[in-house]
Amino acid sequence: MTWSIRWKVALGTLVAVACGLLIAGVMTVRSLEQRYLAQFGEALEAKTRLVEYGFQPLFLSSLSRPTPSSLQETARDLSNRASARVTLIAADGTALADSAVRDADLSAVENHTSRPEIQQALSTGQGQDIRSSHTTGERTMYRAILMRPSQDAPPLVVRVGFPMLVLDREIAELQQRLFLAIVVAFLVALTLSVWLAHSITKPLSDIASAARHLSAGNQTFHVRTTAQDEVGLLASTLNHMAEQLHAKIDELSEDRAQLLAVLTSMVEGVMVLDSRGHVLQINPALERMFGISRMEARGRPCTELFRHPQLNDLVTAILRSRTHHQDEIVLPLSGRCLQIEASPAGGERENEASVVLVLHDITELRRLEKIRKDFVANVSHELRTPLTSIKGYVEALLDGAKDDPAASTKFLEIILKQSDRLNLIIEDLLELSKIESGGVSFKEEPLELRSAIDRTLSMIKPIADKTRHRLVTTIDPSLPPVTGDEGRLVQVLTNLLDNAIKYTPAGGTITVGAKLAPSVGNAEPPARAIDLSVADTGIGIPEEDRPRVFERFYRVDKARSRELGGTGLGLAIVKHIVEGHGGQVWVEANHPQGSRFVVRLPLNPTARSLHHVNEASRA
Ligand code: ADP
Repeated sequence: MTWSIRWKVALGTLVAVACGLLIAGVMTVRSLEQRYLAQFGEALEAKTRLVEYGFQPLFLSSLSRPTPSSLQETARDLSNRASARVTLIAADGTALADSAVRDADLSAVENHTSRPEIQQALSTGQGQDIRSSHTTGERTMYRAILMRPSQDAPPLVVRVGFPMLVLDREIAELQQRLFLAIVVAFLVALTLSVWLAHSITKPLSDIASAARHLSAGNQTFHVRTTAQDEVGLLASTLNHMAEQLHAKIDELSEDRAQLLAVLTSMVEGVMVLDSRGHVLQINPALERMFGISRMEARGRPCTELFRHPQLNDLVTAILRSRTHHQDEIVLPLSGRCLQIEASPAGGERENEASVVLVLHDITELRRLEKIRKDFVANVSHELRTPLTSIKGYVEALLDGAKDDPAASTKFLEIILKQSDRLNLIIEDLLELSKIESGGVSFKEEPLELRSAIDRTLSMIKPIADKTRHRLVTTIDPSLPPVTGDEGRLVQVLTNLLDNAIKYTPAGGTITVGAKLAPSVGNAEPPARAIDLSVADTGIGIPEEDRPRVFERFYRVDKARSRELGGTGLGLAIVKHIVEGHGGQVWVEANHPQGSRFVVRLPLNPTARSLHHVNEASRA
C-alpha cells in the first residue's frame, strides 16, 4: 500500500504529537501524584506526632499502667481530632488500641508485627506504607512512629492510618482533566496536522497534476500557488521551465514544419540514413522515384530496400569513408537516370542522421543532351552531304569535265539540286529555330478548317496527280471555326501531305479528315477540340519509331528520305506549330496499311497557349 505525502505528513505529525502528549501526560500525573503523596505523608507525619503527643499523658505515671479502655477512648478521641484512624501497637505487634475497632473486638485484631510500617518504625523510629487495610478494606496510607513512654518501659508504636480515598479521587480528577486536555490538544493537533499536510501537499499535488497535463501533451502548464516557501519556489521554477520547454517545442515544431515543407516540396529525392545504413527518412519525391512508401522504408536497411548494386556500393563507400560521393544510376524498370549526391551528416549512433543522399532525376536532361548531340551530329552530316557532292562535281568540272557539254550540264544540274537541298535544310533549320525561340508570332484569327484544307489540297494536287495519288477528304460539315494562324496550319497540312505522298507508293490514297475530338478527362465544361488527320496507304512507320519521327533529322529510313528530297525537319516544324497553337500531334498506324497523323487543336481558348513553346517540346 502506498501512502500519499498528505497522509504521511498528517499521520507522522499526529503520532509525534500523540506520543508527546502521552509522555507529558503520564509524567505530569506521576509527578503530581508523587507530590501529593509527599505532602500527604508530611501532613500524616504531623498528625502522627500529634497523636503520639496525645498518648503521652497516659504513660506519665510510672505507677499505674493505662487500662485498655482508657487507651481505646484516647485513640478514638485522637482519631476524631486527627480525622484519621489511630492505632497503638505494642512492640510485640499486639494492638493496644484501635480507633476503628470496637473495644470488644480489640483482642481479635491480628498481630501487626508483619506490617511494613511497624517493622520500619521498630527498627528506624518511623515507617510508612500504603495498602488496603485488613480491617477497613480501604486503600490507606499508614504512618507509624516509635513512642518511648519512659526509660524502662517497652517501646510502643503509634500508627495513624488515613484513607487514600480523597487523594485517589483528587488524582483521578486530575487524570480526567489531563486526559481531557490531552484529547483537546490532540484534536487541535489533528486539525493543525491536516491543515499542515494540506498546505504542504496541495501545491505538490497541483504540481503533479500540472506535470501530468504536460506529459499528456497539454500546452497550458501552469502551477497556481501563493506559497512563498520552497514549494512555491519549486512551482515557479517548474512554471519557468515549462515556458522554456514550450518555447523550445514551438521552435522545434516550426523548424520541423519548415524542414518538412522543404523536403516535401523538393523535386529531388532525399534519403537520410543512419550509421548502419538504415533508412531514417525519405521525402515524397523519393517515394515517387522508387514507388515505395515512407512507412515501409523507415528503419529498413537501404541495401535491402532498393536492391540496386550501384546504389548499394555508393552507400557502403560513404558509410566507410565518410566523404562526399557522387554517382549516376539507371533504374532498371523505369529506365530513369538518377544522379546521386551522398554527403556525410555527422551522426555516429543508431537512429542519428549519418548520410544524406540527394537524388536528381536527370532523365530529361540526359535526353535533351542526347538530342542536342544527335542534332549537332545530324546537322553537320546533313550539311556536309550536299556540300561534299557540290565540291566533288565542281572539282570534276575543273578537272576537265567543263569541256564536255553533256557532262558539265549534268554536273551543274546536280550541283544546283544539291544547292537547293542545302538551301532547303538551312531554311527549315532557320524556321525551326525561329519558332523555338518565339521569334514567330502566330495569328489568332477565326478560320474555317475546310477552306484551309481546300487551299492546301489545291497546292498539293499537281504533285499528287504526278504520282497518281487519290486525295480524299472527310470533313464534318458542322465543325465550328478554329482560332489560329491559317498560314501556319496550311504549312502543317502541306508538310503532312507532302510526306504522305512521298512515303506512299504511286496510286495510293491519301485522306484528309476533320472532326470533333471525343471529349477526354472530366473537366467541366468538357475540353473541346478538333482532330485534323492525314492518313495514307503508304509504307507506314514501325511502332518504335513513331514517337521519334517528330525529332529533328530523325528518319526511319535515311537513304529513302534523302532520295525523296526530305530534310528530316518537316515533322519537327509541324510539331512546333501545333504546340504553338496549344495542340498535340501524334502518329498512329492506318488500317489496313500506312500511317495516320493526327493534329488535335483545342477549341476552348483557355486551353490554348499560343506562341508558347516549352523546353520539353524543343525536340
Ligand atoms: P523527311 O524530310 O525525311 O520526310 P520528316 O520530318 O518530314 O522528314 O519526317 C521524318 C521521318 O518520318 C521521315 O524520314 C520518314 O521516315 C517518316 N515519315 C514521315 N511521314 C511519313 C509517312 N506518311 N509515312 C511513312 N513514314 C513517314
